[in-house]
Formats: sequence, structure tokens, C-alpha cells
Amino acid sequence: MYKNNLMKKACGCGGIMTIHMHTLIYSAKIKITHVPVYTCGQCARYEPLPFIKRDLGSLLSELGEIPPKQHLSFAERNEWASVLKDIFASGFFAGSLSEMEEAIRSAVQARIDLLLDVYRFSADLADRSWMEETGLRLAQLTVQSSECAK
Ligand SMILES: [Zn+2]
Repeated sequence: MYKNNLMKKACGCGGIMTIHMHTLIYSAKIKITHVPVYTCGQCARYEPLPFIKRDLGSLLSELGEIPPKQHLSFAERNEWASVLKDIFASGFFAGSLSEMEEAIRSAVQARIDLLLDVYRFSADLADRSWMEETGLRLAQLTVQSSECAK
């Protein structure tokens, strides 16, 4: 479903970038926690995971030109951030990269299964807005993970 190196990628400096949960400070007064990024162990450069960039971009554009001071969690907006937040909180961070990658894959699959169940339930109730919301959350995980596999 995903290409093998979900957990790490090469940095331009020759170092290895691995996944971390980052707190973004935007416009000096907006704090966005739980943003999954790749961070380089050598040069400390970081970049958002490719499959969260679109949601992160739309969050920042919603904030507008002169946003009020606030504290947001990206995990409330994006399923990848939510799944990764749970994994980091559960202490898997201490494991090896391949253990962690396995944990992420199975957690993402479990979240997809859960959302499919919720989707069926909301469809049974013919609750259109719930179906739509669940469909969007599913798409964050499924469409973007197949993009990632290219
Ligand atoms: Zn680097």
C-alpha cells in the first residue's frame, strides 16, 4: 500500500530524515501542534509529510491574513496526524524504525476499517452530513497513501 520508506527519507545534506511530531508557530502567535514532519538528524531541516501538505495548506489559508492568537491541534483536522499522534503517545517512539513503520501501517489500516464502519453506519441512518464528513476523513488516509506509493 505504501512505499517502503514511510519512516525515513534522504535529506539534501546527505543525512537521514525521520518522522517527528512538530509544533508549528505561524505568524508568531498561532501554535499548531501535532504536525507530522520529517526532520534531519544532521542539519535539523524539517518538512511536512507529503500527504499532509494539502490539509496543512488549507488550514493556513483558513487562518487568513491577520489571524487571532490561538492554539490548534492538526490532529483534529487530519487523520494521518491523528493516527501518528496516538502512536507517538503510546511510546512506540522507543522502537526501531521498522517496528514503528509496522505500527503506523497497522494503525492506519485500523483507522480506515473504523471509518468504513462509521461510514456504513451513517449511510444506514441516511445522515448525509455525517457520511460526507466520514468520507473526507477516509479520503485523507486512502487517497493520500496511494499518492505516496507512486
Ligand atoms: Zn539534512
